[in-house]
Amino acid sequence: MPTCEICGVEVVDVYECSECKTNFCEECGDVRHRLCYDCISWEEEVPGESWEKADSWGAFNDDDPH
Ligand SMILES: [Zn+2]
Ligand SMILES: [Zn+2]
Repeated sequence: MPTCEICGVEVVDVYECSECKTNFCEECGDVRHRLCYDCISWEEEVPGESWEKADSWGAFNDDDPH
């Protein structure tokens, strides 16, 4: 099995980072954008940020099990 170069764990599949060519597992980066954890940190891509703010007040009176 291949080894993730970020966490050093043997995994079934690794993905090559498009920025630094590091082989990383799905735990250590964004596999859809092919960016390892190190490269994501300066990309500052946070897709869930906008609705997370709305949820903070929405969850107060709306009892959503999710
Ligand atoms: Zn890893
Ligand atoms: Zn990278």
